[in-house]
Amino acid sequence: MENTVVKIENLVKRYKELIALDHFSLEIKECEVFGLLGPNGSGKTTAINCLLSLLTFDKGSIEIFGQRMAPDNYGVKSQIGVIMQNVAVINELTVRENIDYFCGLYIRDKTLRQQYVKEAIEFVGLEDFVKFYPKKLSGGLLRRLNIACGIAHKPRLIILDEPTVAVDPQSRNKILDGITELNKQGATVIYTSHYMEEVEQICTRIAIIDRGKNIAIGTTDELKRMIHNTETITVETADLPDETIEKIRSLEHIYEAIYAENELIVKCSGGRHNLVKLLDVLTADDISFGRVYSERPTLNDVFLEITGRQLRDKE
Ligand code: ADP
Ligand code: MG
Repeated sequence: MENTVVKIENLVKRYKELIALDHFSLEIKECEVFGLLGPNGSGKTTAINCLLSLLTFDKGSIEIFGQRMAPDNYGVKSQIGVIMQNVAVINELTVRENIDYFCGLYIRDKTLRQQYVKEAIEFVGLEDFVKFYPKKLSGGLLRRLNIACGIAHKPRLIILDEPTVAVDPQSRNKILDGITELNKQGATVIYTSHYMEEVEQICTRIAIIDRGKNIAIGTTDELKRMIHNTETITVETADLPDETIEKIRSLEHIYEAIYAENELIVKCSGGRHNLVKLLDVLTADDISFGRVYSERPTLNDVFLEITGRQLRDKE
């Protein structure tokens, strides 16, 4: 059985009246890429800050590597690499100097550190920018520098808080591939995001967070099996009569049919050939239609069924 790396039990964190974490519990095993998925303001950063003892909390307990976490627990802290949501680098230092500085907080041996810094630069692909100052870097490259600073000392646990926000697609892919690679090399990863696609792409397990609560936890497949919805069918069609919509609603396995702005959206639960049966109804009523597609549930559907709200607005 894998070792437990992080154990959070019944964490409560208040900012005055606001309850940012509401009896939040979590257990993360060695070698997981664990995703914290939740909308803005759901408490992800607060959870990370409590985990790192950067914030005090009102109730609950936190253990990392089997030890109780505390602000002065440097033994544990030296084994953690943190990439904060807000980029934290030193503007007066170049790319290489920054990485060397952060690595030097944990690695004293100069030769070893040189090697580690070199590896970190290669890992994030900043070879051509080592003499640049942070101000000269694009958003994506700055993120990569931020990551290099966090991982150069080869921590066993790596925490990344929304590392792909405001990042170009090339850097984004580089970051996501890099996280998978670090995990392959043996690191346990905690990854927070409000982008469900990213979390689905790289995480072995996911906790869905809403209003400071952990509302569901599991692999992507497990989360999707928790809900009623198994398929959403979309049909582009103009002037759909109410009686046809009623016929569609009465089909077995269809529990919702909403028609607006020339688009029919049908939700199904179980059953096979739902798309064919739906199109049979349209054909029988002589309805013409344009684009038709069927989609499996997304993590947004999971969020929607549990909370009644969208994980995020359409972008
Ligand atoms: P997330 O990282 O998921 O976007 P946060 O942990 O930053 O969420 O915030 C959780 C909630 O706590 C939000 O409602 C936010 O406005 C509030 N919050 C965060 N930091 C503070 C603070 N320093 N003082 C007061 N409220 C805060
Ligand atoms: Mg945050």
